[in-house]
Amino acid sequence: MVIPNHHYADLKGSYLFRGISERIQQYLRQNPDAHLLRLGIGDVSLPLCPAVIEAMHKAVEEQAHAETFQGYLSECGMDPLRETIAEYYRSRGIAIDADEVFVSSGASDELGDILHLFDRSTISLIMEPAYPAYTDANIMDGRPVQYLSASSENGFLPLPDESVHAGLIYLCSPNNPTGAVYSHDQLKLWIDYAKRNQAVILFDAAYEAFVRDPSLPRSIFEVPGAETFAIEICSLSKTAGFTGTRLGYTVLPKTLCADGMNFHDMWIRNRTTRTNGVSCIIQKAGLAVFSPEGQKQIQDNLEVYRKNAECLMRALDEAGIWYCGGKNSPYIWMKCPSGCTSWEFFDRLLNEIQVIGTPGSGFGPCGEGYFRLSAFGDAGEIAEASSRLKQFLLR
Ligand code: PLP
Repeated sequence: MVIPNHHYADLKGSYLFRGISERIQQYLRQNPDAHLLRLGIGDVSLPLCPAVIEAMHKAVEEQAHAETFQGYLSECGMDPLRETIAEYYRSRGIAIDADEVFVSSGASDELGDILHLFDRSTISLIMEPAYPAYTDANIMDGRPVQYLSASSENGFLPLPDESVHAGLIYLCSPNNPTGAVYSHDQLKLWIDYAKRNQAVILFDAAYEAFVRDPSLPRSIFEVPGAETFAIEICSLSKTAGFTGTRLGYTVLPKTLCADGMNFHDMWIRNRTTRTNGVSCIIQKAGLAVFSPEGQKQIQDNLEVYRKNAECLMRALDEAGIWYCGGKNSPYIWMKCPSGCTSWEFFDRLLNEIQVIGTPGSGFGPCGEGYFRLSAFGDAGEIAEASSRLKQFLLR
């Protein structure tokens, strides 16, 4: 008799995105001609850059000829891509070896798969408000989870609570949904906590490319000591528009060990057993992201999103609304005005100015009374949404 994984029954339904979609559908049934300005999604809107498209076309053509055809590749990633990513870190003063880089199909896949390295009794510590995949991956696996709440008092950047003894710590910086970014000193406090608790930090750096303040870290490995306590999970989804193309990478240092076991060796064993790697066409496209033209072109795209965020921040500043994020992140986390709950604010924006955002309460109870705006949309639509939002907030 087959026994299902009963932990799936412990998952909460995706109330957030189902709730948003149901409300939008209902509004459109009553207002079929309405044009909605969508600032709710975390997906990008600009296409892949020309250097990536050219590399992808070339890679497809190479698969058509026996001399250049590529069969199975190394499960952990193509050597040139691993070396290029290691160089991307070295150019920022972070010494990592190419074999510490593992090419992946994106951060979501890794955030679930990496749990395989840790015993199921390990307590996971998740900062709330949080990207929902952290909690769900742990619940599916039947793992114990503790939450650490963030608030405007700590700038949505919670620091270690010594009364909690976690083994796995999820940090996301720049954060989704709050856009808040940890400083070097704050990350050092987390590394010290990990050391005291013999814990491992899972550092989600999916939005590292949005950090423009040079005093803020883009990688946890900028902080001394991280190489013995952290794994960094990265993605080209938001950096280079790979949300549909799928490519990411994980940095797992050879120095990360616990209880006589080496996590780097274990991850190689895991990858070589549980995957056959990422498509060579996509890896070659990924390589183009790190070429000089690719870097210039993706920066041009990131600049569009940064300008969008500036436009939204200006509107909120002029309306005197508290927010964090936006400066080093595509997300702006605003306080709902006049004591509105997150869903009340959602309904008012939808019905009164046809702007869609994401209710903060969907990212955890401490998100109640907050609202996430995304800067990934079309520049014209963001400008219009900003102007409507400002007028609405000043009413
Ligand atoms: N981590 C965070 C914080 C995210 O916001 C997202 C996507 O929105 C991901 C990971 C997933 O990224 P990927 O597209 O690489 O799976």
